[in-house]
Amino acid sequence: MSERIQAPRGTFDVLPQEEAARDGLARAAQRILGAAGYQRLETPIFEATELFARGVGEATDIVRKEMYTFDDGGGRSVTLRPEGTAPVCRAYVEHGMHKLAQPVKLWYLGPFFRREAPQKGRYRQFFQVGAEALGSEDPAVDAEIILLVAELFEALRIHTRLRLSSLGSPEARAAYREQLVAFLRAHSDALSADVRERIELNPLRAFDAKDRGTQAVMAEAPRLFGAITPEDREHFDTVTAMLDDAGLTWERDETLVRGLDYYTRTVFEFESPDLGAQSGVGGGGRYDGLVEALGGPATPGVGFAAGIERMLLAAAQQPDAPPDVDLYVALAKPQYAREGMRIATEVRQAGLNAQVELAGRSLKGQLKHADRLHARYVAILGDEGAQLKDMDSGEQHEMETGAVPAAVLRGERPV
Ligand code: AMP
Repeated sequence: MSERIQAPRGTFDVLPQEEAARDGLARAAQRILGAAGYQRLETPIFEATELFARGVGEATDIVRKEMYTFDDGGGRSVTLRPEGTAPVCRAYVEHGMHKLAQPVKLWYLGPFFRREAPQKGRYRQFFQVGAEALGSEDPAVDAEIILLVAELFEALRIHTRLRLSSLGSPEARAAYREQLVAFLRAHSDALSADVRERIELNPLRAFDAKDRGTQAVMAEAPRLFGAITPEDREHFDTVTAMLDDAGLTWERDETLVRGLDYYTRTVFEFESPDLGAQSGVGGGGRYDGLVEALGGPATPGVGFAAGIERMLLAAAQQPDAPPDVDLYVALAKPQYAREGMRIATEVRQAGLNAQVELAGRSLKGQLKHADRLHARYVAILGDEGAQLKDMDSGEQHEMETGAVPAAVLRGERPV
């Protein structure tokens, strides 16, 4: 025997019994985002590496160590997409969407790739649903996006806590950055090696550090929120007033920084108390400089992304149970296979779910199988016609084989 080949670490198969929940989630996203005017956009799984280097930021963990990057065979460097915002912005520019009525509202769902250490809720290939609204600075767009994410989570019965902050405009952030670098340098002895090495490169990430020493230092660090301009503050206050109007609970968290460099002003994260270490279910924010950094016209934008696997883990109840089997057609003898097929087909054409024995099992085996499928009715085709059994009540009726579909339909659709 040859050695068994396994799926790569950090990847997973989506098994048939898991598809229904995923479909339910995709339908909920389509319904909720579609109702607010978001249209689905699909971008390629791989993009020019430069898109993420520039779009996500050279200093980020994602670009520094988590991307699957390779030569496409023609001397060009391509990367499996680690996130969805930069690709959507690229598509916006490439298709001249700035000429459309603004904001352009787009949503997506698909696989993303990051070389992270795998653990529960953290994979190397994972799925995200996300949305981006491009072309408006209006705080109402930020509020709308946040409310839509909240609605999506609520529809899926996912309990979350919303943290919110403002990273201000790039100017305020640049000035603050100097201040933070000076503070970190003054306390460098107490910082973790990783944070110390990145004081210049990405000082804001120190707020996200997991080690106690760094956390103790950061508790005293100057906060960006205190350095934002009055205009940034007004923008933030309008966003939060709209969330309040909608009755959404939120908390301000001045230490909230996100793993991607492009954010300006609003940043937010939804966490689920039902998840372990990987508690972030979704997050996002505003990125007013990103489209321009990618070579497009100056265009503000705001968006979110949420992890499908984490949403499924956090869902108190899965969005959709596997489809019911309304009728299972069992065959007392194999010679009734054609009649069985006709009945199952007729019932399916009438809009119900029906299955027919396909594996040559004994009658006992067939009834056991029907039980496992939780079939509502079982029809046994035999020499005397059909016996139709209502599996809920246990009632059993003999009838002509041809009468089975009508009896099932009557039973399933009470008048
Ligand atoms: P981010 O793009 O990093 O803001 O991530 C947005 C959301 O995607 C997170 O809140 C997670 O739900 C999900 N996510 C990010 N990275 C992973 C991963 N490696 N595995 C599974 N889900 C992830």
